[in-house]
Amino acid sequence: MRRQHNDYDIAVIGGGPAGLSFARLMSGTGLRLLVVEKKPAAALKKPVYDGREIALTHPSYKVMENMGLWDEIPRDAVTRIIGAKAFNGDLTRPLSFDAGRAGKENLGYMVSNQNIQKAVFAAVSRQKNVTLATETSVTRLATDDSAAMLQFDDGRRVTARLAIAADSRFSEARGMMGIAASRRDFGRSAIVCRMSLEHDHDGIARECFFYDRTLAVLPLGPKSCSVVLTVAHQETAAVMAQSPKEFSADIEQRISHAFGKMKLSSALFNYPLVGVFADNFHARRFCLIGDASVGMHPVTAHGFNLGLQGAASLAHEIKQAQRCDIDFASDETLARYSRRHRAATLPMYYGTNLLVSVFTDTTKRGRMTRKLFMSLGRGLPFVRQIIAGKLTGD
Ligand SMILES: Cc1cc2nc3c(=O)[nH]c(=O)nc-3n(C[C@H](O)[C@H](O)[C@H](O)COP(=O)(O)OP(=O)(O)OC[C@H]3O[C@@H](n4cnc5c(N)ncnc54)[C@H](O)[C@@H]3O)c2cc1C
Repeated sequence: MRRQHNDYDIAVIGGGPAGLSFARLMSGTGLRLLVVEKKPAAALKKPVYDGREIALTHPSYKVMENMGLWDEIPRDAVTRIIGAKAFNGDLTRPLSFDAGRAGKENLGYMVSNQNIQKAVFAAVSRQKNVTLATETSVTRLATDDSAAMLQFDDGRRVTARLAIAADSRFSEARGMMGIAASRRDFGRSAIVCRMSLEHDHDGIARECFFYDRTLAVLPLGPKSCSVVLTVAHQETAAVMAQSPKEFSADIEQRISHAFGKMKLSSALFNYPLVGVFADNFHARRFCLIGDASVGMHPVTAHGFNLGLQGAASLAHEIKQAQRCDIDFASDETLARYSRRHRAATLPMYYGTNLLVSVFTDTTKRGRMTRKLFMSLGRGLPFVRQIIAGKLTGD
């Protein structure tokens, strides 16, 4: 590839929540960023509702505060999660987590992915150091000791001192740089939507591990909730084909009418569940952030939280290198980010996968293990304290 002169300092591939958050965290550094995104600018400016309601931890809330994002999100679009209950098999004897155990007033916050995307795009659009190349895909990527070289689908080429892939868990950039990733297809889909309730949720998140399906009912505004129904792939089409009335009646019955009448108040959205963990988070003048580094199963609600943590951690290393007047894209700097991000994500990724394995196992032995997990949680307060700490992000 021929090197061009109109270089950037950092090229971010993917303008999703992680890529744009990283760009936002680079505000005030004086570094020139290019964000390359497949979607048109209009879709970033006014993202459509996609059914994803993101549970944010306290550290994520703080990072978003530092990014100035809460000024962009209406107050009534943020819901505090006061507590959580996990059920096994049926709706009796829940394992309860309350914020007090983690020394907090609330476990976390619920905000729609749509609002996060809209807020971070609005903030980045005002940054003078960021150029957005929308409706553009990266088709070739290579690096050498001094630069990363990117070629776009329209044939244009640019160079940057560092390329960052934030192009989803199915990252093409990761593949172009020869980084493999372990994948786990859970054989299930998450069907998500909003529902209105006759009786309020009181800020309590409910995770019901039934034997055929998993159902999460997460608090949104007053008398409104997010529903995440996890079903085997082969059942997905039938659930998606249900009428709003049929779907509402089914969920209402599964949750034993705990909220009285429930009514579907959005479309149904379907996300096939695949977990991804990259073998390496960096290579020469290249690194991975967001789902491109670690794509989580949503049951522990940590995908974006870890993505934001990774973006903040990389931004910290780059700023630190700038302060010491050393190359911010050196192998040393990127390796430090890689190590920190790996240490933060690896236990959560494999812990989540273990939880999924245990709570989707319907064999006799599996049911006994599930019971044992629940008894341990109920009988040992420190276990609940550790889990509550993980939920809040501590
Ligand atoms: C049902 C569900 C519920 C969830 N709930 C939670 C939760 O409660 N808490 C939580 O923390 N996380 C949650 N998550 C996870 C969270 O949604 C993701 O972790 C987060 O959206 C990932 O952001 P990202 O920017 O890394 O990737 P993405 O959102 O996938 O964005 C990638 C971007 O890159 C662009 N792109 C792709 N390829 C290219 C290319 N070649 N060139 C240019 N652009 C490209 C795409 O168009 C896209 O805009 C949930 C996920 C699901 C599915």
